[in-house]
Amino acid sequence: MAISRRAFLKGGAVAAGAVALNNTPAEASADAPETRIKGVKSSTTICPYCAVGCGLLVHTKNGKVINIEGDPNHPINEGALCSKGSSLFQVANNERRLQKVMYRAPGSDKFVEKSWDWALDRISQRMKETRDKSFKISELNKKDNKEYVVNRTEGMAFFGGAGLDNEECYLWTKFSRAMGIGQLEHQARL
Ligand code: SF4
Repeated sequence: MAISRRAFLKGGAVAAGAVALNNTPAEASADAPETRIKGVKSSTTICPYCAVGCGLLVHTKNGKVINIEGDPNHPINEGALCSKGSSLFQVANNERRLQKVMYRAPGSDKFVEKSWDWALDRISQRMKETRDKSFKISELNKKDNKEYVVNRTEGMAFFGGAGLDNEECYLWTKFSRAMGIGQLEHQARL
């Protein structure tokens, strides 16, 4: 529909009058930034997905995450996020996310809920059993037919993820070496 310049200006004056009388916009935009974050707590954090380490602003209300976006004051990303970082809101708010330990015993067709203490004890026991069973003190080198001390286990491997920082990587590596694990790998999307 064509609209004349005079009619457009007249309509604008009426809308401005309505704002002035009510002291509020006639129709506030639902996604205006100041409306979305009004009255909520804003905290800074770092994206957990990769070693780029982009800065984030997390907005919470009543203990619930209601918005996550790039931190414009962070020197690494200056507010920008990749597609994974942009979808972080779904990590905090996702009914499909597992929040409890679920265990399926060997041979069973059912998962049952367990406590974190139970899971950590179980992992420790299994690691100890595996290490004891597979630990090698020495190995024959076929090239010179001599026995060499190796002190290692080939029954376990460790994976690190790109979300680990320097200090975590250092501790992870020290721990695996102390256990005698030689197979230590990295996976950027864990
Ligand atoms: S996953 Fe994307 S948003 Fe997260 S730190 Fe890496 S580059 Fe940044």
